[in-house]
Amino acid sequence: MIYADNAATTPLSKAAFDAMTPYLCDCFYNPSSLYTAGQKAKEALEDARRRIAGLIGASAKEIYFTSGGSESDNQAILTAARLGKRAGKTHIVTSSIEHHAVLHPIEELRKEGFRVSYLPAAPDGIVRVSDLQAALCEDTCLVSVMTANNEIGTIQPIRELAEICRERKIPFHTDAVQAVGHLPIDVTQAKIDLLSASAHKFHGPKGVGFLFAGKGLSPSPLIRGGAQERSRRAGTENVAGIVGMAAALEESVSRMEETAQKLSRLRDRLIASLASEIPHAALNGDAVKRLPSNVSFCFEGIEGEALLLLLDDRGICASSGSACTSGSLDPSHVLLAIGRPHDVAHGSLRITLGEDADEETVDRIARDVKEVVEHLRGFSPVWRSLCAGKSQFIL
Ligand SMILES: *Cc1c(COP(=O)(O)O)cnc(C)c1O
Repeated sequence: MIYADNAATTPLSKAAFDAMTPYLCDCFYNPSSLYTAGQKAKEALEDARRRIAGLIGASAKEIYFTSGGSESDNQAILTAARLGKRAGKTHIVTSSIEHHAVLHPIEELRKEGFRVSYLPAAPDGIVRVSDLQAALCEDTCLVSVMTANNEIGTIQPIRELAEICRERKIPFHTDAVQAVGHLPIDVTQAKIDLLSASAHKFHGPKGVGFLFAGKGLSPSPLIRGGAQERSRRAGTENVAGIVGMAAALEESVSRMEETAQKLSRLRDRLIASLASEIPHAALNGDAVKRLPSNVSFCFEGIEGEALLLLLDDRGICASSGSACTSGSLDPSHVLLAIGRPHDVAHGSLRITLGEDADEETVDRIARDVKEVVEHLRGFSPVWRSLCAGKSQFIL
């Protein structure tokens, strides 16, 4: 089997697993307990916090553990909205290609009276800095733009966007779930105020993540109860998960450059094969400013879901749009945002390579995708009418 859906989740690393087991079994204690054993669990928790902070250029007290990327996004947005409202500022700026974990809480705030501006993404899948300049108002209380897109892999100009926000003292949040452990990140240098991350996207366990919140941005609790996480996130800490996350991040960061070099080479090889061997196909998003693992295509005249099922039959796990939207008939909001028409957006495929991939892997994927696309086009009425000139090719 070829697992090529690493943007959906990644396998747990051996390092993370080994780091976790002692805290699941022998040292199972509650970190809030006062006896020595409990304090050992507490020490492991704080050690993980310091290590994670160090890896992203933050200080330990700016890291809050959460249940993952979705929770971190929700908490970051709620925090900025609460602060904004208190100061009479109720305008939010985000992008049209964000993950639903950002778009949906912002939509909720819009219903509660906030105004929202959506920065468009250009056809290359990248938000323009000038559009942010134009969108900012006196009452903007939050700008939230992701570091790298989960569907099309495009990398956003976070430094430039954050710099503008810092000058105007507007909190800047970035959903860095696809970037942490894969791209270099320094929250201090990049002037980021709020950042979301999730362990299972960098070979840590599922159900654990963190929110970085810089000075002056004490997170508003989503979950109330005990005084854990300095009263910002109640609930007995997922000690093993947090320790596993720290170990996974350390390993990912230490291998980052090497992995990125290797994967970008394989990515480009796969992009070149698909683009040259399949007619009426197009890469989604910029060819260079993209995650090293991400290959996203649209193929005209086919359905992405059918493509996925036939690839699955051949032992290839891939995705169409985002995992969260599969099962629904709406095409990906990201593909629509970069200007793909509905029909074209329906024929999308996302391949996200893992560190174990090699040339054989990508050549096999290229061959199978080509065969399956040809097969599906063979009995697609849409393809037939395109070929007969009854409708126009777009790609
Ligand atoms: C996976 C993902 C999330 C959600 O993270 P979970 O830990 O699964 O809640 C949020 N944003 C992006 C960009 C993602 O890729």
